[in-house]
Amino acid sequence: MGANTTEILQGTYLFGLVGQGIGPSRTPAMHEAEGLAQGHATVYRRFDTLHGAARDLTLQEILRAAVAAGFNGLNITHPHKQEVIQYLDEVDERARAIGAVNTVVIRDGKLSGYNTDVTGFGRGLETGLPGADLSRIVQLGAGGAGNAVANSLITAGAQELLVADLDLKRAERLAQSANTATGSSAAKGISLAGIESVIAEATGVVNATPVGMAQHPGTPFDTNCLEGHQWVSDVIYMPLETQLLKDAKERGCATLDGSRMAVGQAVDAFELFTGLTADAARMRETFISLGS
Ligand code: NAD
Repeated sequence: MGANTTEILQGTYLFGLVGQGIGPSRTPAMHEAEGLAQGHATVYRRFDTLHGAARDLTLQEILRAAVAAGFNGLNITHPHKQEVIQYLDEVDERARAIGAVNTVVIRDGKLSGYNTDVTGFGRGLETGLPGADLSRIVQLGAGGAGNAVANSLITAGAQELLVADLDLKRAERLAQSANTATGSSAAKGISLAGIESVIAEATGVVNATPVGMAQHPGTPFDTNCLEGHQWVSDVIYMPLETQLLKDAKERGCATLDGSRMAVGQAVDAFELFTGLTADAARMRETFISLGS
């Protein structure tokens, strides 16, 4: 770093990610590059609670250590998003309603929790598929990502959100909790039986299952049911172009890949951590530059 660069640096940011198996995460690089681009030395550390030096610490001990070390904020990922809530001084209303926190801001020794998976998916939808018809959406997958997606879609104005999962009870529970969290009645859990005919009647489809990742190849439903007027979104970003998105494009559908949600959550977290406006396009460039 040259002398000029050092002179213009305006202060140091210290962030971290707490979770299991987080080695491949691109979130640290996005924050470090964005902070530096805005004139702040920015360091983003990983606290891997499965394999790393933090594995012998409890989540509460990690939070205390981060406060003591002067961290500005932490991202929290699987499997700690629910557990972390009990250790926070305050929790954003929406994050509390959803029951999951992925962003903790540390200010004056106080811990405040937010959920930028929800706002991040919404941000990605707005920028990647502006004007998408949200009148009847089918969502596959009712796990952690599905929880954020469902809440985000309802907040964005989904009129009818049909949630399907291999586990019907899980789909029903998610629909119920998303309705409660958003004060809506848009979501409904449905069976996977005959899902293609339900998708054929939808305006948009979101895949929030792991089907399409390298270790779970394929598509979560028979894509022959898709038509060009529909939009299709996938939360998977490794690979960026899943088989589902490839098929959907071939059938003329507008598509939204998983990088949008991953970048969106980082953009919103950066803004919460720093109070600065993040350059979403620049953070996306960093994300994409790290390949799949
Ligand atoms: P999870 O295990 O919590 O949930 C996955 C759900 O999908 C489970 O309920 C499972 O029963 C269901 N499912 C599996 N196969 C199915 C099928 N064929 N049809 C219907 N339902 C099926 O996992 P998760 O944490 O929600 O992650 C899901 C995917 O989302 C992963 O690929 C992950 O990489 C991705 N993800 C992306 C982002 C992002 O920012 N883009 C964020 C989080 C997770």
